Amino acid sequence: MKLHEYQAKDIFRKFGIPVPKGRVAASVDEAVKAGQDLPGPPWVVKAQVHAGGRGKGGGVRVVKSLDELKQATSDILGRPLVTKQTGPEGKKVHQVLIEEGVHIDREFYLAVVIDRSKARPVVIFSQAGGMEIEEVAARSPELVLKEFVDPKIGWMPFQAKNLVYSLDPLPGPDTVKELLSLIGALYRLFMAQDCSLAEINPLVITKEGKALAIDGKINIDDNGLVRQKDLKALDDPREKDPLDAKAEQYNINYIRLSGNIGAMVNGAGLAMATMDVIKLAGAEPANFLDVGGGASEEMVKKGFEIILEDKNVKAILINIFGGILRCDVLARGVLAAAEKIDIKVPIIIRLEGTNVQEGRAILQNSNLKFMVAKDMAEAAAMVTEQVRRSA
Ligand code: GDP
Ligand code: MN
Repeated sequence: MKLHEYQAKDIFRKFGIPVPKGRVAASVDEAVKAGQDLPGPPWVVKAQVHAGGRGKGGGVRVVKSLDELKQATSDILGRPLVTKQTGPEGKKVHQVLIEEGVHIDREFYLAVVIDRSKARPVVIFSQAGGMEIEEVAARSPELVLKEFVDPKIGWMPFQAKNLVYSLDPLPGPDTVKELLSLIGALYRLFMAQDCSLAEINPLVITKEGKALAIDGKINIDDNGLVRQKDLKALDDPREKDPLDAKAEQYNINYIRLSGNIGAMVNGAGLAMATMDVIKLAGAEPANFLDVGGGASEEMVKKGFEIILEDKNVKAILINIFGGILRCDVLARGVLAAAEKIDIKVPIIIRLEGTNVQEGRAILQNSNLKFMVAKDMAEAAAMVTEQVRRSA
């Protein structure tokens, strides 16, 4: 689950990480009011969307008067913001964060993430902040410093020193102290809130020598949400693809993709392999969908409906290896969805495993039009052929 910048900064405050004074606003009036109440000018108007690169995309504006603040807010609010991370259609901005402007002296990068290969958290720090860390890593990897954390021991003060004392020039002693404690605080936050990412880019030193988190990004591990009930309330469904949101509601593992072949598969591994085979056959998958072992007829039905709702879908591949999910349950779910919806795209089915005879019989005795593939390679070739024909 992703959080907005203003939500991340509220959490930063709780953990003692200094952030500029600010207030979120959903209208121009609210934004002006926020400006009046906050120290400034200057103020900063920041689009609140789940995407980075807002600065370059025009979603972060430093303004020097209330008139400018008003203008910037009305430019940004209610329109899609296009950044490197949003795709060409952009993301609609529903809220802006109004903040007191700060005088930036230096910009650093700081983040905590899980390093999967080392199976532990890693604190990443760079004095080349403000820009994208991927670029820094590609161009000057020596500027990206890492401290791996033994989760049983936790963050050790010397590790913060390893990072901060790399700075050239080294800031004054008070600033160094602030940085050391800030890094420790971000690690504590990361662990306490079950984060998958906690990032500050840029972490700045102001002209007055204060360390300050100018930007903030927090992603919460979905598996931690059962014990992070307060955080769950911060979820913003407006930021999600509507089909992804619907799938989430029914507990279906679905991720919308940009291709045109809908895939309905049981098992995450088989779903990944099916996507590979579709690509190998020269087409692109429209989604990842793992209906899961314990899927009920109702979930199969919902999953199939979601695939059909995607207007890009030109053909559907159902690839089921019945194990815990029985083939007859799958067949009944598909038929239940087909009864409700007028299906205009070809369906290719490859069915094997538990209760396969029963599943096939259910499908064959129905009005559903479909083709049967004998194996995965044939299934992918057939579905690709259907898409070519319809094109
Ligand atoms: P992002 O582009 O989505 O990562 O948004 P950021 O919050 O990182 O803002 C982009 C850039 O705007 C930052 O790297 C800063 O250089 C600049 N910026 C943000 N806040 C202020 C501010 O208060 N004063 C000044 N001068 N620049 C700011
Ligand atoms: Mn940033």
